[in-house]
Amino acid sequence: MYEYYPKTGVCYDHGENSKIYMIYTFGCNAACDHCLVESNPRKKKKLDPATAIDLLTTGAKYGKSFLDLSGGEAMLFPEEVLEVASAARDLGYYICLNTNAYWARTPDKAVETLAGLKAAGVQAVFPSASAYHLRYVPLERVKNLRAACRELDMVYELNWVYSDQPEADEHIKQEMGLEGETLYYDGLVTAGNNSETIANLEKIYTRRTPEQLDDCLSVHLAVNPHGHVVTSCNMTYDNAKFKDTPFFLGNFHEQSFEDILRAEAQSPVLQFIYHNPHPALHNLMANDQAFGDYYRETFSERSYFSVIDYYLELFRDQRTAAWLQSNLPAVVEEQQRQRALTTV
Ligand code: SF4
Repeated sequence: MYEYYPKTGVCYDHGENSKIYMIYTFGCNAACDHCLVESNPRKKKKLDPATAIDLLTTGAKYGKSFLDLSGGEAMLFPEEVLEVASAARDLGYYICLNTNAYWARTPDKAVETLAGLKAAGVQAVFPSASAYHLRYVPLERVKNLRAACRELDMVYELNWVYSDQPEADEHIKQEMGLEGETLYYDGLVTAGNNSETIANLEKIYTRRTPEQLDDCLSVHLAVNPHGHVVTSCNMTYDNAKFKDTPFFLGNFHEQSFEDILRAEAQSPVLQFIYHNPHPALHNLMANDQAFGDYYRETFSERSYFSVIDYYLELFRDQRTAAWLQSNLPAVVEEQQRQRALTTV
């Protein structure tokens, strides 16, 4: 498994600074073996429209203009999705919806529901298809949603997860006629509802060195019902691996979201990565005269499932963290000065 993310699609049309990825609910009608936030029908914690709209309103004041509404399955609460989307639309957001497509029961139902979402401001839909989803949502519904998106002229981008069942993967590709369709996948996040499957996935997914790692722009602001604010759409249920790193910005239930957004804007690490995706940080450190030897000796042979795991390991290495703290502010300041000059 050695494919790279297709560098196309709506995520590439919007700056990382502008994005909010929102886990609206941890609840889901499915319980996929592999699931970043370990959603299932027993999980109940969710946001409510007022909280979500508050976050978006504050976000808009700080330059946020791209909302990826996700879960769990946000469409378990269709009225709330419509309310949040309408408010986001009025605030000027470009709105995307992640969904498992369970609600697209028939072609007509898919068009009817999607028309309502479109009227509320949703512009792009990211349905999921994988061997794990197949147990809960028939492929027919994803096809219904795809046809509805085409009929209503809405963006449709399929999220794809390679599984530990190659025959099922092949069946989905054949059944959906995916030959020639752009598939969106990501590095492996080792989380889900079945630890045995995750262990299998760890065996078949490729670990890559910093030189080989891909970046699908997965570093941007994300929020969840716990109140966590983490700068990655690879956020998990408990986000333990992000705690005490620059990627964990705080909890909006415990401090003001405005303070958290200020901290995001002032973080040299985040601002550098937002404007300089991988491998920029790797190159910066590898080529530094004083630090390059240590960096290359320590990291060039290590391998990771995703660029996020690589960044987290950088932050947890004391010498690297100290180097970032001393050196990145000046680099970021100079880049900001250059950008200001080019926008005058
Ligand atoms: S992967 Fe998606 S559909 Fe499956 S349990 Fe998680 S949120 Fe639900």
